[in-house]
Amino acid sequence: MASAIKCAFCDAKTIGKQEISVIGTVRVIYPRRPIIPASVLITPVRCVEHVHDLTEEEVCDVFRAAKNLHEAFTRLYATTGYNMFVNDGVSAGQHVPHVHFHFYGRSTDEHLNPFTTLNDREKYDARPAMAEDEYIEHLHGIRNSLLKS
Ligand SMILES: [Zn+2]
Repeated sequence: MASAIKCAFCDAKTIGKQEISVIGTVRVIYPRRPIIPASVLITPVRCVEHVHDLTEEEVCDVFRAAKNLHEAFTRLYATTGYNMFVNDGVSAGQHVPHVHFHFYGRSTDEHLNPFTTLNDREKYDARPAMAEDEYIEHLHGIRNSLLKS
């Protein structure tokens, strides 16, 4: 059921500032305070709360985006693997009622394991906002690298 309440991933301001790309029926968003630079959110363009609300096309596009992002991150950040996960339901830690997959590029020689921050509430809350010019550089870098996928 569509909600009348404005959600962060449907807000025009958020999309205008944070959208990297639209791949079929899904949107790739750069988080405002990324845990690590090689980090994005994959959301359906349609506002739905749960994975079980997704259409088959949306499910396929989530994985198509993941495949393209893996290639883009490998080019841009020299990552060799990734984590992709979803918190589905409040009991699982879902804060925004719009399905979103977290996607982190990983490599064996990385400086920061994203789960070190994710598993430490204090560290997570205290993580700094990325400087505006650095934010734009990453957003455009990922967008340009995705165009090559
Ligand atoms: Zn939404």
